[in-house]
Amino acid sequence: MIAKVWNKVWKFTGVDQTNIYFLDLDKKIIIDCGNRSDNNLAEQFLGKAVDFNQIQIVIFTHLHYDHIGCFDLFKNAKFYASSEEIEDFKARKTVVGNLKEEFLQKLDLKLKPIELIFEDLTISGLKIVKTPGHTRGSLCVWYPEEQILFSGDTLFGNKMFGRTDLPTSVPFELNKSIVKLVDYNFRILCPGHDY
Ligand SMILES: [Zn+2]
Repeated sequence: MIAKVWNKVWKFTGVDQTNIYFLDLDKKIIIDCGNRSDNNLAEQFLGKAVDFNQIQIVIFTHLHYDHIGCFDLFKNAKFYASSEEIEDFKARKTVVGNLKEEFLQKLDLKLKPIELIFEDLTISGLKIVKTPGHTRGSLCVWYPEEQILFSGDTLFGNKMFGRTDLPTSVPFELNKSIVKLVDYNFRILCPGHDY
């Protein structure tokens, strides 16, 4: 349910083998927020590694329902996704599953384009890599110091790629994104799901 991936990196795995990552860097950072139904378990298990009130930054690799479900556990965080992803989410073009409109609207108000903070700098040593394919606004997070790649639903552990038949997918872009990722020569892959 919770595992230490590496120094300073924790992972909670919930329903549908969906992962929430916690990075204990000079800022406390969450990558993706899992399924709504994992709310209690995420709090119970990941809550052992960190006080959620101390989480400063949440980065979404993309805004599908199974990556945003527990966002409201992190009351003091700022929430970032790519500007393309936010645009599609606010237009309700992304896959939101059975999450209630009221819940989605709460997230609408909090989302900020990641370009604002990542334009020329990195945050706590992390780098954002835009990887359109699974969705138009998908991104990956690169942690160079430890050579760890957080790949969302773009790339999975068994060398499988994310689906590109969803409403905001851009199938013709995925190959380019994968080639880009190979260049990073990662030592540890932290995908959005442990398929
Ligand atoms: Zn997805």
